Amino acid sequence: MNNTPEQLYDVAIIGAGPAGLTAAIYAARGGLTTAVFESSGPGGKAALTDRIDNYPGFADGTSGFELMNAFYEQATNVGARFFFEEVRDVYLKDDVKKVRTPARELPARVVIIASGSRQRTLDIPGEDTFHGRGVSYCATCDGPFFRDKHVVVVGGGNSALQEASYLTKFAHLVTLVHRREEFRGSPAAVAEAGNNPKIEFRLNYAPKKITGDDKVTGLEVESTVNHATELIPCDGVFVYVGSQAGANFTAAGVDIDASGYIKTDASMQTNIKGVYAAGDIRETVLRQVATAVGDGAIAAVAAEKFLLRHGTDAS
Ligand code: NAP
Repeated sequence: MNNTPEQLYDVAIIGAGPAGLTAAIYAARGGLTTAVFESSGPGGKAALTDRIDNYPGFADGTSGFELMNAFYEQATNVGARFFFEEVRDVYLKDDVKKVRTPARELPARVVIIASGSRQRTLDIPGEDTFHGRGVSYCATCDGPFFRDKHVVVVGGGNSALQEASYLTKFAHLVTLVHRREEFRGSPAAVAEAGNNPKIEFRLNYAPKKITGDDKVTGLEVESTVNHATELIPCDGVFVYVGSQAGANFTAAGVDIDASGYIKTDASMQTNIKGVYAAGDIRETVLRQVATAVGDGAIAAVAAEKFLLRHGTDAS
């Protein structure tokens, strides 16, 4: 079928991370007309991850970019149509839903929300001022700017540990600042960073202020043990302090939990008929590529069954 942007689609998917791309593969392979909206490139945060070690099937790990590109190619090959446009608004309550971007308003019978989570910020002085001038949230994007420099990574989860290891490809020294003694990241990630001679750990220190002139010159930290402050001179600060729910769909009537994540049942159905959520944006116990893939598959199959009961664009 030759789709045009204004045509009624069976499924509109918001977000092309691992959940959205998997939902697109399943929906399009199932014969549903499928539109996918993404405001940046395909793959979401996973595409910006240098190495993914725990996605099954890759004994030596794989590049996040390459893995997501393969998902994208597969979705395109089975007929999903991609719109690299920012979704500004959605209307979800009627049988025919609408997804609006600056370029179009696309009607669809089912909407799958897979717009992911976004990285938390530190909310300390200097963070905004020096964003893009030494403060970064993406080692894969900005690491090469710090060749032979000293960078600080803030955080104690898998992201901070893995990205600290990655940054040693460029920086001569990576200082990992974490506010506690114990890490949230896996023992394997802790061991890898701990065994890297270019990484030093500064534990029990909380970040307080990012200093600089035209770019970052240091990170002021405070001991969580004796409250003494100290300045760590550095050229860059990479922030990896966890994530929070991304876009907010409450105005469109979607129920969320206390942390802002969308509530679903076991088939990824939200409180609105014909509206599903999958991946990091959903209330869930684990946020990984593997779980996002499962969510996306379940949401698309549930959407297919819903459309069988309520009719597709061809009926
Ligand atoms: P996370 O596991 O939630 O860890 C966030 C870290 O940031 C925590 O150590 C936390 O300290 C610290 N933090 C939070 N707010 C802070 C603040 N204001 N100042 C200083 N430190 C602060 O987040 P993540 O590392 O981004 O990981 C998110 C999820 O993705 C996790 O489930 C993780 O396993 C997963 N992930 C998996 C992989 C992989 O398996 N390959 C890679 C990356 C991420 P506290 O510990 O004191 O709270």
